[in-house]
Amino acid sequence: MSPRLEIRLDRIVENAGTLVGRLGARGIAVCGVTKATQGSPAVAGALLAGGVGSIGESRIENVEGLRRGGVTAEVMLVRGPMLSQVDRVVASADVSLNSELAIIEALSSAAAAQGRTHGVVVMVELGDLREGVMPSELPGFVERVMALRGVTLRGLGTNLACQSGVVPDATNMAELTELVVGVEARFGLALDLVSGGNSANLGWALDGANDVGRINHLRLGEAILLGCDPLDRAPIEGLHTDAFHLMAEVIESKRKPVRPRGSLGQTAFGTVTTGQLLETGDAVEMMNRVIVGLGRQDVELAGITAPPGFGVLGSSSDHLVLDGGVEPAAVGAELGFGVDYAALLRAMSSPSVTRSFLWGPARER
Ligand SMILES: *Cc1c(COP(=O)(O)O)cnc(C)c1O
Repeated sequence: MSPRLEIRLDRIVENAGTLVGRLGARGIAVCGVTKATQGSPAVAGALLAGGVGSIGESRIENVEGLRRGGVTAEVMLVRGPMLSQVDRVVASADVSLNSELAIIEALSSAAAAQGRTHGVVVMVELGDLREGVMPSELPGFVERVMALRGVTLRGLGTNLACQSGVVPDATNMAELTELVVGVEARFGLALDLVSGGNSANLGWALDGANDVGRINHLRLGEAILLGCDPLDRAPIEGLHTDAFHLMAEVIESKRKPVRPRGSLGQTAFGTVTTGQLLETGDAVEMMNRVIVGLGRQDVELAGITAPPGFGVLGSSSDHLVLDGGVEPAAVGAELGFGVDYAALLRAMSSPSVTRSFLWGPARER
C-alpha cells in the first residue's frame, strides 16, 4: 500500500534507550511522548522497551487507544484536560498536566465518583506563554489543589520552546527548582515529580556545566522519534534520524524539458513560476522528471526530504514532481522520503497514508 509510513521500531527502541541512559546519569527520568504518532500502541511499546518510565499523550482519545492497544504503563496526559472530558481522563490516564483550578476540581469529583486517584502536575508559566500558572499565583493554587480529594499533587512542571520558542536554560530551570523548594517548604511536603519540559530541554539537561537542580523528569517525543533537537532541528549525536520513512510510488518517469512553455498564471496552490520560459526556437534542454503518487492531502510536503539523487520540483494535491537526477526511476518503484515533525504529524493523521511497523530493514522490494 502506498503512500505508507514505514516505522522502524528497533530504531525507536535504541533512541529511547540512548536518551534514557544519558538522562538517567543526570537523575532525570523520561516520559516518552507518542502524540506525533496519534498514540500508536506499537510506538509506545518501543518507547517502553527502550526504558522510558511512562507514556505521554496529548489527546484523551489517543490515551484510550493506548489502553485498548494493551499499554498498561503509567500514562500522562500532557495537554490540560478539557472540562468536558474529565471522566474519561480519570478513567484512562494516571496523571495529567494542569493549570486550571476548575478543571482540577472536576477531576477531583470524577476521581472520587470512580473510586480512583488521579495524579496532578501543576504547570508553571516560565516565559514561553503557553500553558501554566503564573509563579506569583502558585502557592495559592497549590493550597487549593491539596485540599481536594481524589487527586494527588504529584509535582510541578513547565513547558518552553513551543509557543514563543523560549530556550530552556540555567535561569528558567533554576526558577522551577526554586518554586519546588518554596512550595515544599511552605506546605511541608515532598514533590516526587519535577517535569522540566520537552525535547527542547535536552541541550540544557545534558550539558554537564548545568546543575539540574530538582528537575527529575522530561517529556520527550521528537528527540526520540526523529533523533533531532527541536531548537535547531540538528541531529542529536548517537541517535537514528531515520526511524520513519514515507514510502511513495513512481507513477510517471520521463525525459521532459527543463522549462515550461506557454503563458503563466498561478499554479494549483497560488504560486507563480519564476525563471525563463521555453520560447519557440530555443534549444530544448531536457531532464529526468519523476511524478510520485504523493500530495498535500497526504503530508506536509515542505517537511519531507527526497531520497539521494532526487530533488523536489513542486507539488499539488496528489502529485509530487521530482528532478529525477541522472538515473531514470522505474515506474512502480517505491521511493523513501525522510520526514520532519510537521510531516510526520500530518502523515500519521492522514487517512490516505497507511502504516507499516518494522523491526529491521524492509524486505527487498
Ligand atoms: C508535545 C509536548 C511534549 C513533547 O514535545 P517534544 O518536543 O515532541 O519532545 C512535552 N510536553 C508537552 C506539554 C507537550 O505538549
